[in-house]
Amino acid sequence: MSATAELLAAARADADRTVDLRRRLHRRPEIGLQLPRTQAMVLEAFADLPVELTTGTGTSSVVGVLRGARPGPTYLLRGDMDALPVQEDTGLDFSSEVPGAMHACGHDTHVAMLLGAARLLSERRDALAGQVVFMVQPGEEGFHGARVMLEEGLLDVVPEAPVRGAFALHVSTMWRSGTINVRPGPMMAAADQFAITVRGRGGHASTPYLAADPVPVAAEIVLALQAMVTRRVDVFDPAVVTIGHVTAGAVNNVIPETATMEGTIRTLSADSRAAVLAGVERVATHVAAAHDLTAEFTHVAGYPVTVNDPDVAAQVTATAATLLGEQLSSVMPVPLMGAEDFSYVLERVPGAMAFLGACPPELDPETAPGNHSNLVRFDEGALPTGVAMYAQMALQALAG
Ligand SMILES: [Zn+2]
Repeated sequence: MSATAELLAAARADADRTVDLRRRLHRRPEIGLQLPRTQAMVLEAFADLPVELTTGTGTSSVVGVLRGARPGPTYLLRGDMDALPVQEDTGLDFSSEVPGAMHACGHDTHVAMLLGAARLLSERRDALAGQVVFMVQPGEEGFHGARVMLEEGLLDVVPEAPVRGAFALHVSTMWRSGTINVRPGPMMAAADQFAITVRGRGGHASTPYLAADPVPVAAEIVLALQAMVTRRVDVFDPAVVTIGHVTAGAVNNVIPETATMEGTIRTLSADSRAAVLAGVERVATHVAAAHDLTAEFTHVAGYPVTVNDPDVAAQVTATAATLLGEQLSSVMPVPLMGAEDFSYVLERVPGAMAFLGACPPELDPETAPGNHSNLVRFDEGALPTGVAMYAQMALQALAG
């Protein structure tokens, strides 16, 4: 048996333990940066392995270090562990027992696969020249958990050998179970939130010339933003601007004083991110000024663009083809416009994030409930594939 076939067979032989941890996590989801019960389960799962553990000071993060038999560089594997504020409706017998919380993005599977990889790598320390860092992070769902871990020294957890490469997997029902999907360059978008408040002067609806009506100005801004995107943004470096929330006024016969809009900007490069943010502000304030009103623009920076190193992405594709067969390894033609906070790690070290297809075999990836749905189910048959991918990426990076 080849070394990769042996690795996959070992991951499959250990599947019961991986599934058991996944289901225990699934029953008790926690949201945000403080995940005490989840952290306790992670520490317990690492306890019988030769992994040095530290926990976060500002959050419930866990960092494990496995030292290989010989010295060498340090390679990072990421698994996120937070859940979403969703009421689970899957009917699974290990459904969430916490009202209003669900592992609807599959982060429970990520932790379980990372622990499975830690077990395989612990048994193969002789093959490792260097250190494997296991990054188990809270707060991926909008809480910037990865950024907090970086600020707390994640990349220097092995002081003599700072982290030199990184890899993460994310399950998705968008792909057939057991497939590995990745692409070079931009993989996921930057996601920034913004709000615009148009300020006028209230009055009687019958005498708009005596008031300063913010409603038509807000409507004009909504449309002008779409024209700005099509006329000012390079079609080969695309952007999405969506206004998802508009409020103004209360009754039919009163002109309100303000109208507010909230939206999101999705971009795939740092240049277009900066240009579109500036463009939204410029259009809003100038359209308002044209009508002698004012507009205030505020924004909350979300995650940056998730950019895969082209060489590492190619290595992921090749590794998956060797491990699983060519037909289970594919290059994504386009990025996803969702966002991911592993982007912060990839800003600092070359690496890649890949999607592990986990659509239940009886469903169609085109129509199966997607990540974040109250009905989403992930195929546990894909977990050994993820375990072996994590382990193999580290074995290759630290082959010496
Ligand atoms: Zn997720």
